[in-house]
Amino acid sequence: MPPTSSNAPVSYWLREPSPPADPPLNAGERVDADVAIIGAGFTGLWTAIALTDTDPSLRVVVLEAETVSFGASGRNGGFCEASLTHGLANGIRHFPDELPRLEQEGIENLAALIEFTREHGIECDLEETGTLGLADQPYQVDEFRAWVDEAAEHGEHLVFLDGDAARDEVHSPLWHAGLYRPPGRDVLLDPAKLCRGLARVARGRGIALHEHTRATGVERRAGGITITTAAGASVRAEEVVVATSAYSGWLRRLSPLFVPVYDYVLVSDPLTRDQRAAIGWERRQGLSDGNNQFHYFRLTADDRILWGGYDAIHHFGSRVGPELDDRPQTFERLEAHFFRAFPQLDGLAFPYRWGGAIDTTSRFTVTFGQTMGGRLTYALGYTGLGVGASRWAAGVVRDLILRPDEDRLRLRIVTSPPVPFPPEPLRSLAVETVRHELDRADRNEGRRGILLKTFDALGIGFDS
Ligand SMILES: Cc1cc2nc3c(=O)[nH]c(=O)nc-3n(C[C@H](O)[C@H](O)[C@H](O)COP(=O)(O)OP(=O)(O)OC[C@H]3O[C@@H](n4cnc5c(N)ncnc54)[C@H](O)[C@@H]3O)c2cc1C
Repeated sequence: MPPTSSNAPVSYWLREPSPPADPPLNAGERVDADVAIIGAGFTGLWTAIALTDTDPSLRVVVLEAETVSFGASGRNGGFCEASLTHGLANGIRHFPDELPRLEQEGIENLAALIEFTREHGIECDLEETGTLGLADQPYQVDEFRAWVDEAAEHGEHLVFLDGDAARDEVHSPLWHAGLYRPPGRDVLLDPAKLCRGLARVARGRGIALHEHTRATGVERRAGGITITTAAGASVRAEEVVVATSAYSGWLRRLSPLFVPVYDYVLVSDPLTRDQRAAIGWERRQGLSDGNNQFHYFRLTADDRILWGGYDAIHHFGSRVGPELDDRPQTFERLEAHFFRAFPQLDGLAFPYRWGGAIDTTSRFTVTFGQTMGGRLTYALGYTGLGVGASRWAAGVVRDLILRPDEDRLRLRIVTSPPVPFPPEPLRSLAVETVRHELDRADRNEGRRGILLKTFDALGIGFDS
């Protein structure tokens, strides 16, 4: 049954009801734990799993304001990449010295993630397809060609495809070239199935998972931290992990670190056999184009097309909320762009459409920190590439809490925060200006104006 506006699920991935968790904490209820985790997306659940891998005796509680994978973890494109640095180019820009180590840890992390799904029977439609970047403007062809050699210097193998070869691979009049990355550094998956699978494993280990339990405050009290909830319950824990991603504005000290950026997605009806034949795409790679404001697209397990990206919307005051999930003008724009890429699919319907907030940092990678005497640890800021990286970040959070001598805690990606965003009204002004400049660059053969060049030199940016 296609959804109507009144019964629309949060996303295509979340169209089935969520499996039961523990009951919400009620007014007056008081719970004690060794570690309390706030947020049941990938970061929170992988952290619960990493902590109990290291110390199975820990009493861990997870509090989730809505339901498991309600946030970005249940709304993303399902591109699960090895990169921990929002792609190789961004890693070269920000962490040149530690990049070989980060690349290696990323590859190991992806392998471990895949292994975990197999070991625990998490059926998440995982496909090892490789990816294909597509040049949809002529100036991108030379950039693609040049990137093959640079990527090779950093151990990433890419294959350049000329226009004919790219169009042969995936049939569209738009492509001028392609960059194929063979399987090994990414997988496609169903993110909600993965996230719900993690919740199942966590609960199987005795970890309490309270949905519909929103944390509203944290306070340091003798020997621990007390979390208060919207319903008037409290959780007292030795350690607290904040894993609330783009929704982290509730903890004021995290606000300078990120901006929530809304990204939007369409999912089509399943393709008929003729429609499927009309687009090629036999290898089912994850696809994206080469613009600053880029589209990402892929096939789902039941042969629908997921088509997302392009608009990246920040709301004044870094507002987040369900009313922002629906943006008809963006959905219309995405549809128009889709039919420009695939005119042969004219008439294809997109019954699923949604938005979600991405936790963007000025350097596009996760950032970590500890406050309240080291008892509150946070990890956020994956900027649109957190499906894989969140598992690695959860390991770092575990190390910060249980294994402070671990060598990787000395990495700059762990120790140094990104350049902070200013408060409003400067924040919105800065984000809007950069967005405008990125759009201008896309329409001007990729040429970046003086403002973007200055920001590049300072290591500051805006992306999704
Ligand atoms: C549209 C979209 C497309 C994306 N595409 C990709 C992609 O293809 N590949 C990729 O790698 N990444 C992608 N991402 C990013 C990726 O989804 C995220 O980086 C990742 O899911 C972050 O996981 P998380 O657990 O940190 O955050 P979330 O999944 O957002 O989890 C945070 C959780 O905290 C809960 N919460 C918030 N406040 C409170 C509170 N006060 N108390 C209790 N609970 C609270 C929320 O309800 C939520 O469930 C995309 C994101 C979006 C939005």
